[in-house]
Parts: sequence; C-alpha cells; structure tokens
Amino acid sequence: MTNNDIIEIKQLLETPKSIVIVPHKNPDGDAIGSSLGLYHYLKSKGHDVVVIAPNDYPEFLKWIPGEDAVIKHESDTEKANILIENAEIIFTLDFNSLSRTGRMEPHLVVAKGIKIMIDHHQQPDDYAKYVYSDVTMCSTSEMIYHFFGMLDDVKAIDKIIATSLYVGIMTDTGSFRFASTTSTTHRVVADLIDKGANNAQIHNNVYDTNTFNRTQLLGCALNNLKVIEEYKTAYISLSQDELNKFNFKKGDTEGVVNYALSIENVVFAAIFIEHKRENIIKISLRSKGDFDVNELARNHFSGGGHVNAAGGCSELNLESTIEKFVSILPNYSKELK
Ligand code: 5GP
Ligand code: MN
Repeated sequence: MTNNDIIEIKQLLETPKSIVIVPHKNPDGDAIGSSLGLYHYLKSKGHDVVVIAPNDYPEFLKWIPGEDAVIKHESDTEKANILIENAEIIFTLDFNSLSRTGRMEPHLVVAKGIKIMIDHHQQPDDYAKYVYSDVTMCSTSEMIYHFFGMLDDVKAIDKIIATSLYVGIMTDTGSFRFASTTSTTHRVVADLIDKGANNAQIHNNVYDTNTFNRTQLLGCALNNLKVIEEYKTAYISLSQDELNKFNFKKGDTEGVVNYALSIENVVFAAIFIEHKRENIIKISLRSKGDFDVNELARNHFSGGGHVNAAGGCSELNLESTIEKFVSILPNYSKELK
C-alpha cells in the first residue's frame, strides 16, 4: 500500500459510505476477528457497514460483539447479493483469491464497489484496487491494527475493537507461539489489552468451552494418528461416521492437527476430514521450519496458505486421499529426511 493509496482511502472514508466486509469461507478466528474489528471501527465513523461471510462460523467465536451484523451468504443469499451489488467499498479480509469465498465469487467479481484487500497469505491475486498484503504478518487482525495506524487513527480503537482484533491475533498465532509472532505482535497485543481487551477472558471464551463430544472427538482423532518416521511426517484422519458419532459441529476439529505436529522429530503434519455432503476431503497442513506447505497444498490439493500452515481439499475418497498424500512424500525427501 503506497502513501498515495492511504491518502485516497482516507478521502474515501471521509464521508459516509455503504461498506461490505468479506472474510473467507469457513471463517476462523482471524477472519471473524479482523472483520468485526474493522466493522466496529467503520460503524463508529458513521458508515453503513455489514460483514458478509460465505458461510457460518464456529460457536466459540459467536460471543464476539457484532454477531448480528454478520450475514451468511449461504443462507441469506438474496439479501447478501443486493448488499454486494450496492456496496461502494468492499473490504476483503484474510484471503488472497476470490475463489476462497465459494459461491460469493461471481458476485464479488462483477461488483462495482472499490475493493480493498488486507491479507497475509502467500501469492495474492490481483483483483483489488488497493492491496495491503504482507506475508510476514502473523494475522490479518494485526494488519487491521496497522491499517488504523496508517489512517492515523489507532486512538479510535475501543474495547470492542480491541477484543475483536485480540481474538484474531491470538488464534492465528496459536496463542502467540508460532514463528510468525514478532515483538511488534506483542506490542500490538499489549496496546489492545491497554485499550480494554480482557486477555484471560478471551482465551477462556475461545479455548475453554469444549463440549464433552468435542473432547471425545479429539480422542478419536488422536487414536487415528499415524507417524511416518522416515519422512518426519504425522497425519490424522476423521471419517464422516466418526464425526457423526461425536455430533461434530463447525470448529470442533480446529487445532487438532497441531497434536500431530507436536510429536518429537515431526516437521510435517496433516489432518484429513471427510465431508460426505460436499463429497470432499478437507485437508489442513502444518509444518515446522522451512518446509513449505503452501507450495505442497497448491501443487497437490488445490489449496494454499502460508509456509507453515496451509489447507486444501481432495475429491478422492478418504483412503485414496491418504494414499496420494503418502505417495508424494518421496518428492520432498530432500526437505523431509
Ligand atoms: P486451516 O488448515 O486452519 O483451515 O487453514 C490454514 C491456512 O490455509 C489458513 O491461512 C487458510 O486461510 C489457508 N487455507 C485453508 N484451506 C484452504 C484452501 O482450500 N485454499 C487456500 N488457498 N487456502 C486455504
Ligand atoms: Mn489469518
């Protein structure tokens, strides 16, 4: 984002606008935290703002103020499409390609509103007029904080905005432990706490509200864990039957892949989750050090993400997807052995 871009965006935001904020499909803590943080900020400046998510988000994020302002395109399609069509400004947050919005994509492609991308994923597409992309950032939520800084308006961050951004930074950094966490991240988070974010309460709201079923599902996942020592790789699978057995709810498998990565000597981990209704296997990939899972997800599983965290999907069945996964490991023997 150039200085001139900032000047133009400041001018744009000087008068009330109709604004749509879009996070990616299956929104996570960073997608929702950054969207609601920006939502509350723009609302306080007198704009007409909505968040339009491609689909619903997990229960453990629903306590963040502003849930009623989040329209789900999947269930409220007509209303969402009219808002997209009439928006003067469209912020797209926490994704690098409009394809990450699923069925919203064609509507966003033809929308006339000025698009502003704020995102930290690798290899961003070129669809927005203004692009603030930084792959060194731990989270889009930290970038929203810096965006307010560019607008000379960090002072406008109140308790609700601080809370929203804190959720995004905390979840995308695995509670400040991933390598993407910098001293600046900690300074930003310290300021968010000063501005009213209740860190202990937020952590409790997001992580310490497990249902019995979710905990049992974790047990099932850990039971299915396999290690391929030769390639320093570990993976977990969950079939649709297993998900059904434990009454799976959106978000229940969040973070499970990290258990595979936590095993000593493992530098590459994956989880394969069967979605019978969509007939796909959703894949999450994680790595330690230099092993680039963004590249592997792009080349083999129609996905992408970051160097150490990426995702994708497969249209093969669960067994064949795992076979494919195991069969490509020798291609990476230089990095993994
Ligand atoms: P997760 O595994 O937690 O769903 O996602 C890890 C990272 O990869 C996130 O930054 C997410 O945005 C990205 N990601 C997940 N699934 C996909 C996908 O299907 N396509 C792309 N391009 N990125 C994905
Ligand atoms: Mn993110």
